[in-house]
Amino acid sequence: MKVCVVGGGASGLVASLLIAQRGHEVVLLEKNEKLGKKIYITGKGRCNLTNAVTGNEFLQNIVTNPKFVMSSEVRFNSNDTMELFEDLGVPLKVERGDRVFPKSDKASDITKALERRLKLFNVDIRLNSEVKEILTEENKAVGVKLSSGEVINSDAVVVSTGGVSYPLTGSTGDGYKFASVTGHRIVEPVPALVAILLNDKDLKNLSGLSLKNVVLKGYEKKKEIYTTEVGEMLFTGNGVSGPLVLSMSSKINRIDPKNIKLYIDFKPGLGDFALFQRLERDIVELKAKQFSSLLERLLPKALVPIFAQRLGVLRSKKVSQLTAEERQKLCELLKGFPLSVDRLDDIERAVVTSGGVSVKDIKPKSMESKLVSKLYFIGEVLDIDAFTGGFNLQLAFSTAAACASDF
Ligand SMILES: Cc1cc2nc3c(=O)[nH]c(=O)nc-3n(C[C@H](O)[C@H](O)[C@H](O)COP(=O)(O)OP(=O)(O)OC[C@H]3O[C@@H](n4cnc5c(N)ncnc54)[C@H](O)[C@@H]3O)c2cc1C
Repeated sequence: MKVCVVGGGASGLVASLLIAQRGHEVVLLEKNEKLGKKIYITGKGRCNLTNAVTGNEFLQNIVTNPKFVMSSEVRFNSNDTMELFEDLGVPLKVERGDRVFPKSDKASDITKALERRLKLFNVDIRLNSEVKEILTEENKAVGVKLSSGEVINSDAVVVSTGGVSYPLTGSTGDGYKFASVTGHRIVEPVPALVAILLNDKDLKNLSGLSLKNVVLKGYEKKKEIYTTEVGEMLFTGNGVSGPLVLSMSSKINRIDPKNIKLYIDFKPGLGDFALFQRLERDIVELKAKQFSSLLERLLPKALVPIFAQRLGVLRSKKVSQLTAEERQKLCELLKGFPLSVDRLDDIERAVVTSGGVSVKDIKPKSMESKLVSKLYFIGEVLDIDAFTGGFNLQLAFSTAAACASDF
């Protein structure tokens, strides 16, 4: 069988290899001058290629359509990914949070290893080859047409063109066009794993301030949407970023920003009452000092004037003179410091795209279209996305393997 794979990113490279290993003729079409441009920038150049957890623990990290992902993950999980890359000659290591990286800390090793093996299996790699159209006959994929006008006939077509984030790497949403002209539904693409921009003027000078051991809570009006684990976040000047914020963005990206309320819990280890008791102890100890000394004990220094301002209490006020109401309000602000959301940052700067080809039109076992036979969609072009930690690349590999198993 002859198969055209459209897009030489993470999913297209692995699909090409696994299909070729099954003895088929594969033509891999990549519009860039090199393969896997996005892989080079993953994991800050180190490529967090998968996460060592499997099963339910893995699925808990899938934000969109975990049920759809389940059968491909069961059949090709992170153990299979690790085995594949070790077999390709890339030694791996597992770091904090079960994140898996190449021992060399070089993302380029991942792409190079795949490319070497593709050549060994005679995959016809065509760089600078942009696919313009998927050719179909009687609801069956029969080949592709390139921008140059060249037509390549094949028995099957795999679309692995990625989403629309970081478009300079080549992912410019072409797969959505291929899907919609062939009748597939598209779930509107929105940014995921992205910074959140804020309206709060008093937080503009905090650029670079990082918060550790905090929790971020997200609400739609009064309804709780998501509470993060304890972790880190960062002020950027026009908003917030960092691990907790990226996770939150994936959970709130389809809510009208006007209705989103975010709160930082600065003391997640203490319940309301325990925090009140701790505060009372501090107040006794610091009674002769100024309010700013009390705040400095509880918060990073840069936040002290902001807290005092938001509480409407002078920094120079004596701790012993704080009223019961002021103490109560301080507790409330420490447990729920409100952030006013303007919007999520642009999709071009999002680590992944949420949305894409609707999984309702795709068979979960093989990634074949339910509408056009022998047409497959894999990787980020699908309406699937996950938290950080190696889960998105694993989705690319699992869906690639599911597709290859159909040949
Ligand atoms: C900065 C950053 C860091 C990241 N770090 C991690 C990480 O450490 N771990 C993790 O799990 N995930 C990470 N991700 C996410 C992960 O990189 C993606 O989810 C994954 O690369 C998606 O793979 P894909 O094959 O679906 O798409 P892509 O990797 O985007 O590949 C799509 C390919 O298709 C090509 N293409 C597009 N249209 C056409 C066309 N018409 N004709 C021919 N070729 C075409 C593109 O040029 C591109 O090469 C990161 C993403 C970014 C942006």
